[in-house]
Amino acid sequence: MSEFSDLTIYFNGDFIPWDEGRIHCFTPAVKYGAAVFEGIRGYWNDEQEKMYLFRLQEHMVRMEISQRISRFGEVIPAQQMCDATIELIRRNNFTGSVHIRPTVYVDGIGESSARGPLGCFITAIQRGTAKSVETGVRAQVSSWQRIADNMMPARAKANSNYGNARLAAVQAKQDGYDAAIFLNSRGKVSEGQAMCLFIVRDGKVVTPTITSDILESITRDTVITLLHDQGYEVQEREMDRSEFFLASEAFFCGSGAEIVPLINVDGEMIGKGEPGPVTREIQTIYFDVAMGRVEDTRGWLTEV
Ligand code: PMP
Repeated sequence: MSEFSDLTIYFNGDFIPWDEGRIHCFTPAVKYGAAVFEGIRGYWNDEQEKMYLFRLQEHMVRMEISQRISRFGEVIPAQQMCDATIELIRRNNFTGSVHIRPTVYVDGIGESSARGPLGCFITAIQRGTAKSVETGVRAQVSSWQRIADNMMPARAKANSNYGNARLAAVQAKQDGYDAAIFLNSRGKVSEGQAMCLFIVRDGKVVTPTITSDILESITRDTVITLLHDQGYEVQEREMDRSEFFLASEAFFCGSGAEIVPLINVDGEMIGKGEPGPVTREIQTIYFDVAMGRVEDTRGWLTEV
């Protein structure tokens, strides 16, 4: 029993009670972390009394990519997972914003080279916006290095990759920071733990490239698109750690994290040490789009 016991989950084709979602201890998913997942937001629009799932299709397509990179023997298709998600949201009758977590995992009794059989499940829980979106966070450049593409490809949203993020997150908390920033094996800035990042330098917005050992973040893509709409120049390029000292502002982004101002790195203030104007502008536009308060010109929203 837990606070989520009243919820319904999707589990291998069925809709079942939360407490019945079980995986065997001998599966490769448990033994080796052989699984891939997504984190998706659904925004409840109070005025319209509707739920909008943000970029559902793109997340499920990325989960197909994660399955291929992880060499699963087959791929559970995006459409199946989208349809199941929509039905799951309907069945739970949420009246608040949600966080949705679909997973595809290697089931059965295999060893580490097993490529199947596959199982899948989807959970959805009510979750609002964290206070840090308003206040901003203080981060540490981690002494843990980001996993490299020829070790554990960060481009796949594979559960096993999160051992790396976890070590950095635990260290940052132990050292009194809110979040960690990874450098990659080439010593360049990569991303936060479960968040991509941007800085503003001389009025231009800079973010590490998709070959900087980042997850190809959907929120990063959203932010770049929205910044272009506003007329900003966005540079996707290699980024040095020392550039944090030259930035006038910085922010993290991710589906779960949303847009989080980064106000201090390694004890040094970024800009004035408070959320900056570009960060505030992009936050406002992001939430207007994601919550269905403005017209959805790009087909990013799925109404439930
Ligand atoms: N990097 C990592 C490692 C992540 O786990 C996430 C969260 N999915 C992100 C970046 C942000 O990605 P997205 O915007 O697609 O949620």
